[in-house]
Order: sequence, then C-alpha cells, then structure tokens
Amino acid sequence: PLPVLAVIGRPNVGKSTLVNRIIGRREAVVEDVPGVTRDRVAYEATWNGRTFTVVDTGGWDPDARGLAERIAAQAEIAVQVADAVLFVVDATIGITDSDEAVVKILRAAGKPVVLAANKVDDQRTEAEAASLWNLGLGEPFPVSALHGRGSGDMLDAILGVL
Ligand code: GDP
Ligand code: MG
Repeated sequence: PLPVLAVIGRPNVGKSTLVNRIIGRREAVVEDVPGVTRDRVAYEATWNGRTFTVVDTGGWDPDARGLAERIAAQAEIAVQVADAVLFVVDATIGITDSDEAVVKILRAAGKPVVLAANKVDDQRTEAEAASLWNLGLGEPFPVSALHGRGSGDMLDAILGVL
C-alpha cells in the first residue's frame, strides 16, 4: 500500500486548495463558504517520482458548536490512518487555541508532522509564517496553495518523513 499523508487543520485554512496543489489537479472541493469538503477524501499524488496517498479532511461549518472538539477528533483519526501529517495553519491569522489542541494530539501520537504556513502569497507574509515556530513543530514551510509559492520545498519535506 502507498504511504498516507493526512492533511489537517481548521476550516478555511486552505487544506483542499493545498491538496489540489499537491495532486496537481482540481479535485478537492474548494469553497469560499467553508465546510464543503466531505469528511475524508483520498487522492493519489506523485512528487519526485514517489507516489503516496493524500487524505483531505474537514467539511464542517466553522461556526458549528463544538468545532474545537471536531478538529481534535479529526486530528485523532488522521494520526491513526496516516504515516505522516501535513498540518495546515493560516499564516495570515496565526495560531489559535484549536491549533494548540491539535499540536498536543500530534505530539502524543509521535507521527511525523510537516507544518504548512499557508496563504503566504508574497514576501510580506513571510514574517507571520516564521511566528509559527512557536507551535513547537519545527520549521514552518511558508506556502501559497493558491499560487503554488513554496510548495516544492514543502513537498520535499513531506517526502523526507513519509
Ligand atoms: P479548507 O476549508 O481548509 O479546505 O480551505 P479551502 O481550500 O476550501 O480554502 C478556503 C479559502 O481560502 C478559499 O477561498 C481559498 O481560495 C482560500 N485560499 C486557500 N489557499 C490560499 C492561499 O494560499 N492564499 C490565499 N490568499 N487564499 C487561499
Ligand atoms: Mg476543504
């Protein structure tokens, strides 16, 4: 079986856009109104000649009650099914309480994690991405899922842990 990368993070951080970037297609559903991704959707991706499975997650209303619990549950499931986790944070928003909760789960699971600081569309946002070092997950990879900026370095890091 192919190694599995689970993509997790709060609604609207750009998980599905990043999944599309990784698979090089537009199959993961991106919506300005968040909450459209079905619970978990798997795709095949290839980078530098290596093929792996990418699992997109999410798909709930960010205003839903108990959202933080759902995000935590998503993280728990992801670490069970995945060989590695791509944790996506919106660099323009920064670290939230639910991000901190996810970090605890990821740490406890001991699965390798690559941290994507998404929505770094230009140089100006790089500094905000650097603040994600504070999550304690190592180097944040600044990316723009929308424009493709930084995705090569992020994918190299993913292959390094997958
Ligand atoms: P998800 O809920 O985490 O799957 O997020 P989506 O991929 O559906 O994206 C949510 C919104 O963020 C959409 O409007 C995307 O176009 C936007 N978005 C995603 N990635 C980027 C990015 O790198 N830069 C900017 N500016 N917007 C982005
Ligand atoms: Mg989505």
